[in-house]
Amino acid sequence: MAKFAINLKKGTIAKDSDVIVGIDLGTTNSLVAYIKDGESVAVKDENGKNTLVPSVVHFKADGSTLVGEEAKQKLVTEPENTIYSVKRLMGKSFNDVESVEQYFGYKIINEDEDKLVKVRVGDKFYTPIELSSFILESLKKRIEKVLDATVRKAVITVPAYFNDAQRQATRDAGKLAGLDVLRIVNEPMAASLAYGIGLKADETKTIAVYDLGGGTFDISILQIDNGIFEVLSTNGDTFLGGDDFDRAIIDYWVDTYNIDKELLSTDKNFSQKVRLLAEEAKKVLSSTDTFKSEINGLNIEITLEKFNELVQPLVNRTIKACKNALKDAEINVPEIDSVVMVGGSTRIPLVKSSVATFFGKEVNDSLNPDEVVAKGAAIQADVLAGNNKNLLLIDITPLSLGIETVGGLMDTIIPRNSKVPNRSARQYTTSVDGQTKLKVAVFQGERDLVTHNRKLGEFILTGIPPMPMGLPKIEIQFILDADGILKVKAKELRSGVEQTVEMRSQYGLSEEEMAEMLIDSIQNAQSDMAKRAVLEAKNEANNIIRSAEKFLEQNGRLLTEEEIATTQSLTTALKKSVEGEDKDVINQAMDDLNQFTSPLAHRAMDVNIKEAMSGRKV
Ligand code: AMP
Repeated sequence: MAKFAINLKKGTIAKDSDVIVGIDLGTTNSLVAYIKDGESVAVKDENGKNTLVPSVVHFKADGSTLVGEEAKQKLVTEPENTIYSVKRLMGKSFNDVESVEQYFGYKIINEDEDKLVKVRVGDKFYTPIELSSFILESLKKRIEKVLDATVRKAVITVPAYFNDAQRQATRDAGKLAGLDVLRIVNEPMAASLAYGIGLKADETKTIAVYDLGGGTFDISILQIDNGIFEVLSTNGDTFLGGDDFDRAIIDYWVDTYNIDKELLSTDKNFSQKVRLLAEEAKKVLSSTDTFKSEINGLNIEITLEKFNELVQPLVNRTIKACKNALKDAEINVPEIDSVVMVGGSTRIPLVKSSVATFFGKEVNDSLNPDEVVAKGAAIQADVLAGNNKNLLLIDITPLSLGIETVGGLMDTIIPRNSKVPNRSARQYTTSVDGQTKLKVAVFQGERDLVTHNRKLGEFILTGIPPMPMGLPKIEIQFILDADGILKVKAKELRSGVEQTVEMRSQYGLSEEEMAEMLIDSIQNAQSDMAKRAVLEAKNEANNIIRSAEKFLEQNGRLLTEEEIATTQSLTTALKKSVEGEDKDVINQAMDDLNQFTSPLAHRAMDVNIKEAMSGRKV
């Protein structure tokens, strides 16, 4: 159902869109896609041209920001105020990135080596989460313009090898951008979905996703089994991509045409010009045999043959990584059913042919390789929105699930990377003699102390029969269903006392929603309790009415006419109260009837016993 709100600034009605968008938050470029008329489409810029938003943020002197193409223009002229490749910093501490610090043209802060890094721009500090949120905000705005509605929900992709800190950081960036991140999806899984691989319920396939972008290379081997996507292995090189291909061309030109190396390293504008020309040459060579141009009046050229010779070593490095990935996955080349190509650099003919030769089959390259991941994310988003009822896309739990044990320790019951759905149990016992209750607090995360993990909820198993400590056998079972909903069952095995609680474990709830749910559940709990009290009173009243009528039927002869009449009128009053919903009125009517009839019942019982004793009745 669409929600509406008044936009006070514009004086218009702002719609809230139901669409869940798919976002590829890339190292070099980012995109947003959604399902339009059943098709996954990547959203273009205002001019209807580019779907790619360069993942670059520029800070202007007044502190305001530029994102995307405009920010990219500032990379050369104002490198210290222009942030790129922020994805490389997500969820990382300074220690993690120290060795590659020189790669960044901006200032990375090392005030505390173990804490998450920050980036310094002017006299301000920004976390990679904030910086990424600027990119996400710009994507959000882009799609909101197209849909003319507010977009609040998204699926964001991350590399399969991203750890929890990196996933969490990505999620937080989404939250900061005003997006509720329903799911963090592995990029190779999204890519295969874009090609429709894994969309059928009873499909079993092993696929390779080859992703060569501007600055990174990833190869992932996935096992798809009935909608379950399992990452068997990942490999790659975080510093190998299209930029290296450009550099190979620059180096060739420098050598061949005696381009001034000194000028190239000191004159930013000149080096940028050469770099852009090399990239253009590379792109042109993806569809023709020769590239010709000029630099500062100097005629230059490069043939496809030469280019292939130059970049062969780079391509070989990617093939070596493919071999390693297969080895880690314990998969042989012939077992790979499909190869999916992702990333702008897979347009290079030599890349395509080398990958096809290595895997011994045609590669999937019919879709725009820049858009594949975002499109797949939109498909996953659509499934989450419930628009594809026959499909259940399942992946693996990104975080471990467990309970708190003595001393605040996390005891994992379903480890991270387990297939979903999943079911697992462990046995516990009591720590005090005669303990009748056990608190079960459920957490998600990888840290040893639960305080560092995320609490999903808690409940108390009550009614454990008192036993010496260590004797009760309490089984805690975790049942994780395909939607990521976790059911926790606690059962004392000796007595059979049991309780089940449902918790939502997937990344999916914003803090507000969580708070709302809690308030709801408390309010509902109160009204549920009241309802239950009325129901219980009615049940009891009906039992009493039945007994009173039976009593009159069997013992009427022992009562005075007045006693019979009063009993009848009190029974009628009770019947009437049961038709209402007031438990106090029902209870009062029950008391009245009980009080009046209980001496009569005693008297009747005495008479009946006497009669039985004297043998008149058996
Ligand atoms: P991505 O990170 O996936 O956006 O990839 C961008 C990279 O793809 C850049 O290095 C581009 O130069 C490269 N690229 C884009 N188009 C082509 C093309 N037609 N031929 C070769 N490389 C390309």
